[in-house]
Amino acid sequence: MKTRFFITKEDLYELFINQNKTREWVANFYGCSAVLIKKKCQEFGIKKPADLVGKNLERKIQKECLYCSKIFEVVNFRYSGKWEIKFCCHKCSSDYRYLGSKHKRKVLNSVAARRRANMKNALVELTEEEKDSVRNMYINCPEGYEVDHIIPISKGGKHHPDNLQYLTIQENRKKHNKCSNQ
Ligand SMILES: [Zn+2]
Repeated sequence: MKTRFFITKEDLYELFINQNKTREWVANFYGCSAVLIKKKCQEFGIKKPADLVGKNLERKIQKECLYCSKIFEVVNFRYSGKWEIKFCCHKCSSDYRYLGSKHKRKVLNSVAARRRANMKNALVELTEEEKDSVRNMYINCPEGYEVDHIIPISKGGKHHPDNLQYLTIQENRKKHNKCSNQ
């Protein structure tokens, strides 16, 4: 068989058997078709033992966990990208997504504030941007601060981004007392 690819028996044996590369990998290496590699193997009498084929299929790769930085092993799926495994365990995955209990509490705060506002008829129609803005106020609330309604809901203030501000917990208590004393 005449070919423009120069493939020796030794090289093919080294790649296909010793390094246990797939036929597709070897073909890619030489820049030829997988069919040619198959023909070459037949020509040289190279046959991959069944146990090596199995090993190749379940070849694992090492990855670093995105959350805890632990090195872990996963089977390298052909379809990576969006469905790529990024975490060593379920806990790391959920902790990463929920950003911890503090973040979860802030999300719950924002939901509770909305519910309270709804009960006191302080909800106004908001655009998606304004909804995000309200939510971000609660999510990004710094340690030691609370989200406060500038005009209190009890005084007709609305649950709207323009009516929200950060107050330290002490300031907020003081303001609250003043309002209830008046
Ligand atoms: Zn982890």
